[in-house]
This record gives sequence, structure tokens and C-alpha cells, in this order.
Amino acid sequence: MDLPETSCDVLVVGNGAAGCLASTLLAKRGYDVCMVSRGTTSTSLSTSRTSLSGVSRRKEVTQLLRGLGAAYGLFGSHPGKGEGITSLGSVVRQDLSSPHDWLCTGPERTAVLGLKGNADLDPDLLCRMAGRCDSIGECRPYWADLGLPSSIDAGGGPTITRESRVAVEELAEAISEMDEEMVIIPPLFLGPRHDLALSILERSSGRFIREAATPLSNPGRRLQACLERGALDSGCRLLGDRQVIGSLAQGHELREVRIMSGLREGTIRFGALVLATGNIVSGGLQVGCDGPYDPVFGLATDTCSTGSLRSPALTTALSVGIRNREGRAVRKDGSVMQNVWVAGSACPGLSYPLGRGLGHVASSALTIAEMVRGYL
Ligand SMILES: Cc1cc2nc3c(=O)[nH]c(=O)nc-3n(C[C@H](O)[C@H](O)[C@H](O)COP(=O)(O)OP(=O)(O)OC[C@H]3O[C@@H](n4cnc5c(N)ncnc54)[C@H](O)[C@@H]3O)c2cc1C
Repeated sequence: MDLPETSCDVLVVGNGAAGCLASTLLAKRGYDVCMVSRGTTSTSLSTSRTSLSGVSRRKEVTQLLRGLGAAYGLFGSHPGKGEGITSLGSVVRQDLSSPHDWLCTGPERTAVLGLKGNADLDPDLLCRMAGRCDSIGECRPYWADLGLPSSIDAGGGPTITRESRVAVEELAEAISEMDEEMVIIPPLFLGPRHDLALSILERSSGRFIREAATPLSNPGRRLQACLERGALDSGCRLLGDRQVIGSLAQGHELREVRIMSGLREGTIRFGALVLATGNIVSGGLQVGCDGPYDPVFGLATDTCSTGSLRSPALTTALSVGIRNREGRAVRKDGSVMQNVWVAGSACPGLSYPLGRGLGHVASSALTIAEMVRGYL
């Protein structure tokens, strides 16, 4: 059986930060926006710590992310240059912070609490690595075996869920035995009220509670959920588990794509298309014998090196994105697609390991949303 035919003003392919933000901005302007999502986004794997170094339109990016984050306990601290500490004891720059982010400005002595069975935080490793870094004070490792799951939904209502309340009580008891003023815990809580759960823990334990910047875990999931909620609340339709597998061009425009979900296929027609498909990390581009290529739309690629890693091959691979001229996608024959835009890390050079992460991605989404509006 085929998927139902869909049509919209704007189709956004990819539901990471770029896709969600572009969808939110366009849907808020009254356009009928559909966003298709497939699999895991890089956004949900990130630590969510956002640097605005070198980002254009910093003020608008700050407003946009803080505005969306407010309902989700994200980016609530006063914006400004800060240094976050990662779960591996390294330091990352961040300009947007949440109240429970562990930053370099904490007290001299910090406790790091690992929970048996939770792989997100190894206090022995973190304390060893932090000892090598001058800007991090003295850290002491602790372990507790509380049998808590690695993710606990704190809910979205006026107060936290029962499950998270029980976890908070158990954590507070374990923490009350520690001497240090500040305690680092793994990022356990999910949902809009995760921040409230941490605040309650802070009050009941009498300690400052902080989280290290942790990739591949709950901080990225929180950001993903927050941005998706923002897109849905603005009126965007989210078509989950849909992979775009082909497109139909009419001259210099694309008017429809083929999508697949499981064994079912269908068509989506649109006025404008935003490709927020990510780079080789999220599979928006694939790597063949001749290097990275666009597997779906037959578009040209470009490299744009914004930084360099030890491996030149990796630097090149991470610098690749879909070629575009003033945001519009370019085909392999050099022609510019008039109604197709490229946003976020699908653009050449917008790669986190090369110094361009979520801040640049958000800025790109802002710009592309304006260009699409100008076209429609
Ligand atoms: C482990 C890790 C840690 C990171 N940590 C940080 C950090 O701390 N700070 C920071 O600023 N940045 C960080 N980043 C980078 C940051 O996550 C990315 O820059 C950002 O999330 C890219 O957003 P995006 O919307 O461009 O792409 P993505 O979030 O990757 O979204 C693209 C989506 O498009 C989908 N897609 C692709 N092709 C198709 C198709 N044909 N049909 C349907 N869907 C498709 C992909 O499956 C993917 O889900 C990190 C990245 C990783 C992987």
C-alpha cells in the first residue's frame, strides 16, 4: 500500500537543528510546512553546548534558541562567553548555557558522582583528566549503586513525575554524605521539567548540582525534543520515519520527492524545498570511491575547510557539503535549482570538529528561512 500523497508550501528534509529551526521560522509566518525525519540526528547526539564564536547574526540566534529553550529548561542562563567542562575533563567554549551546566567558574573543590551501570559519567576518569587542566579546580570521585535507569522522564507538567521524584530523593541521600559544595552527576533527566528535577535535587541536597557536557546522551535528546516541539507548536507537520529516496525535476526546479517508510512509498509535492540533511556524519552525504556524494538529489558537492584535524583525509571528508549559490542548491551540471535551499551542516564547512557546530547551524537556518520567504 502506498503512503498518502501530501503537498505543502515548503518541504524540509531532515529534523535536526537546521530542519527544526527553518520549519519553525517558516511555519510561524503562516506557510504550510512539512518536515520529514529519518533516524537519529547529529543534533540528538550533541552535548547541546552552543558556541557563537564566528557566528553571524548572533543576537537573532541567541533570541531564537533561548526563546525555544525557555519552555524546556534550556539556555536559561545569561548568555555570554563561558567554558564548559566535558565528561572527559576537557574544556569547551559555550555562549549559551543552561543553569545546571558545569562551567569552569565553580568552587575550588568539586565532587563527581558516578552511578554504577551508567556509562555517561566515569568519575575516576573525569577526575584524572580534570587534574591535568589548570582551569578546573580539585575534583574528587565518588561511586553510588542506586539502581537508577540512565534516562528518567521528569515530565512536562507543573511538577516532576513520581519516578523522577524518587530518583531525586535517592540522589539527595547519597549526595548528603559528601563534603564538597558542588556535585557533578550524569545527565539523567529528560523532558521539559528536567531542569526542575535538578533544582529540587539542589534544594534537597544543599549542594550545587551540575552536569558535564556529555555527548551521545540525554543533553542532545533534550535539545532535539525541544526543537521538534518548537516546530510542531508553530504549526509544522512532522512526518516521522520517512526517508526521501528520489526527486523529480522540472527544468531548474524540483516539484516533488519520493519518500519511503518501511516497505511503503509515496510522493510529497511542494513549492520550495529545504535540504537540512546533515553531512557525512548523519548520512545526508555518503562516501563512495570518489569521495563524498549526495545520494538522493544528484547535487554537486564542495569542500570548505574551516579548521583542520590531524588527518587531512578526515578534514576533507568533514568539510564537504552540498554546493550552493547564495543558499540555492547546485546540480552536478552547474545549474542552480531555483526552489531548493541547503541549510545547516549539509552546507560545506559547517562541521563541529572543524569549529562550526550548532551556533553556525542555527544561523544558517535563519538565513535560509528568510530566503525561502523571499521566494514564496
Ligand atoms: C557526537 C556529536 C557531538 C556533538 N557535539 C556538539 C556540541 O557539543 N556542540 C555543537 O555545537 N555541535 C556539536 N555537534 C555537532 C552538531 O550536532 C551538528 O552541527 C548539528 O546537530 C547539525 O544539525 P543539522 O540539522 O545540520 O543536521 P542533523 O542534526 O544531522 O540532522 C540531519 C537529519 O537529516 C536526516 N536525513 C538525511 N538525509 C535524509 C533523507 N534522504 N531523507 C530524510 N531524512 C534525511 C538525517 O538522518 C538526520 O537525521 C556534535 C555532533 C556529534 C555527532
